[in-house]
Amino acid sequence: MSDSVFKNYISGQWVAGNKKPIANISPADITDVVGHYAQADQEQTHAAITAAKAGQLEWEKSGLEQRYSVLMAIGDELIARKDELGAILAREEGKTLAEGVGETYRSGQFFRYYAAEVLRQMGETADSVRPGVEIETRREPVGVVGIITPWNFPTATGAWKIAPALAFGNAVVWKPANQVPASAWALTEIISRQDLPAGTFNLVMGPGAEVGDTLINSRDINALTFTGSLETGRKVAAATAANLVKCQLEMGSKNALVVLDDADLDIAVECAVSGAFGGTGQKCTASSRLIVTEAIHDRFVEAVIDRMKQLVIGHPLKEGVHIGAVADARQMEQNLVYLELAKKEGGTLIYGGEVLTEETEGYYMQPALFTDTTNNMTINREEAFAPIACVIKVKDYAEALATLNDTNFGLTGGICTTSLKYASDFKRNAKTGCVMVNLPTAGTDYHVPFGGRKDSSFGSREQGTYAKEFYTIVKTTYIRA
Ligand code: NAD
Repeated sequence: MSDSVFKNYISGQWVAGNKKPIANISPADITDVVGHYAQADQEQTHAAITAAKAGQLEWEKSGLEQRYSVLMAIGDELIARKDELGAILAREEGKTLAEGVGETYRSGQFFRYYAAEVLRQMGETADSVRPGVEIETRREPVGVVGIITPWNFPTATGAWKIAPALAFGNAVVWKPANQVPASAWALTEIISRQDLPAGTFNLVMGPGAEVGDTLINSRDINALTFTGSLETGRKVAAATAANLVKCQLEMGSKNALVVLDDADLDIAVECAVSGAFGGTGQKCTASSRLIVTEAIHDRFVEAVIDRMKQLVIGHPLKEGVHIGAVADARQMEQNLVYLELAKKEGGTLIYGGEVLTEETEGYYMQPALFTDTTNNMTINREEAFAPIACVIKVKDYAEALATLNDTNFGLTGGICTTSLKYASDFKRNAKTGCVMVNLPTAGTDYHVPFGGRKDSSFGSREQGTYAKEFYTIVKTTYIRA
C-alpha cells in the first residue's frame, strides 16, 4: 500500500473509505498506533454486496482444483508468516505473542482443511418411488455470505468462516470488529493476491451500527454468519429473519469447569488456570465458573492461588509473559464493574483483581479469583469476558452437574475426575455443545464441529464437515431415463 491508510477491498480493488479513517491503538501501549484504517459507510457496504453477487456467479463455476489451490495458498502463507502476523495480532488485540502466533497458525490450518474439503464434495443418489425415475441430491453454493466477526479472535473467527464459504463456491462480504482491523486487513491482502474473480471476496471495515447493520438488513445476501455478543446476535437474527436470510450465530457463554473430589489436583489446577485466564479471560469458551466439591475445595483453591502467583502479566510482545492486556478501555471498565459487583453480592476476592501499572501505558489486570460465590449471583449468570473466575462450592457430583446446567448459556463444559462413572454421565448430561474431560473448557480442534446450546448458539454448527450445512444448499434432481 502506497499511502498510510489501510483500505477496504471491494470488487477486487483497494478503496478508500467514505468515512474518516480510525486509528488502531494497541491496548498494551496506548502510544503504539498499529495503523490507520478506512471506514466504509452504507453505500460502500451495498457496493461490496453488489460486487459479491457478480463475483459469486463466476466463482461457483470455478474448477475444484482452482478452489483447492486458492485455499491451500492462503493457508500456507498464514502458516509461513505466523510470527509476523501473530505479532500484529498481539499488538492490536493485547493477547500474548504466543497466543497471536498460535491463532495465526490455526487460521492457516482452517484454510488447509477446507482446501482438502473442496475435493470431498460427494452427492447422493436414490431410487424414486416412481419406477424408471432416479433421484440425485447435490450441494450447491448458498450464494453471497455476510461475515461479521468479534475482536477476541481477529484472524481465527474470520478464517473459520471465510475458508468454508470460499471452498463451497460462495462469495464473501467480511465486516471485522473495528477494534482489530489490522489482522483482517492482513488476511484480506493475502486473499487479494489469489486467483479469485473480482468481487468474490470483499472487506468492509467500519462500525457495527452502520456497516454491520447494512449487511444484516440486506435482501441481497443469502446467508449471514455472526460471532459476537448475545445482544448483537439477537439483532442479527431479527434482521435476517425479516428477509428470510439464512443465519448462524455463535455468541457468549458462562462456561463451567467441575472439579470432583477424586480429580487429579495438578490437572484440575492447570485446566482451571488456563481455561479461566488464557487470552486474558476473553474467550467465549473461558471457564469463569469453577464448580468444586467439598472435600477438595480448600486444597484446590490453595493450589490455584499458588499457580496464579506464577503468572506473569505484561506487554504481549515481551518474552515470558503469560497474560497480556485487556482489549480496550471499555472492556477494562466492564471488568472492574463485575469485580465490584461480585464483592457486593458476597463473593470473597481471595486473590488478584488489581489494576497493574506496566512500563507501557495500557490496560493490565491481575487475574482474579473469588470464593464463596453462588450460582445465582450476577457474576455467575452474565458473561464478564474478563480474567475473573468464581468458585462455587457444591456437595457432590449431582449438585455440580445441576449447577453447571443452571445457566442460559451452553457453549462448553468441563469436568476433572478420575471416575469413569462420573465422566461418562457428564458427557451425556452436560447441556453444552462441547464437553471436555480432564481438559480446559477453552481450546478446540479445527476439523470437528464447534458450537453451543441455548443462548450460546443459533443455527447449524460451524467447522469440520458440519460447516457445509450452512454454506451450501441442497438440490434434489429427478431423472427419467
Ligand atoms: P459484539 O457483538 O459487540 O460485536 C461483534 C461484531 O458485531 C463486531 O464486528 C461488531 O462491529 C458487530 N456489530 C455490532 N453491532 C452491530 C449491529 N447493530 N449490527 C451488525 N453488526 C454489529 O461482540 P464483541 O464484543 O466484538 O465480541 C465479544 C463477544 O463475542 C463475546 O460475547 C464472546 O463470547 C463472543 N464470541 C463468541 C464466540 C463463539 O464462537 N461462540 C467466539 C468468539 C467470541
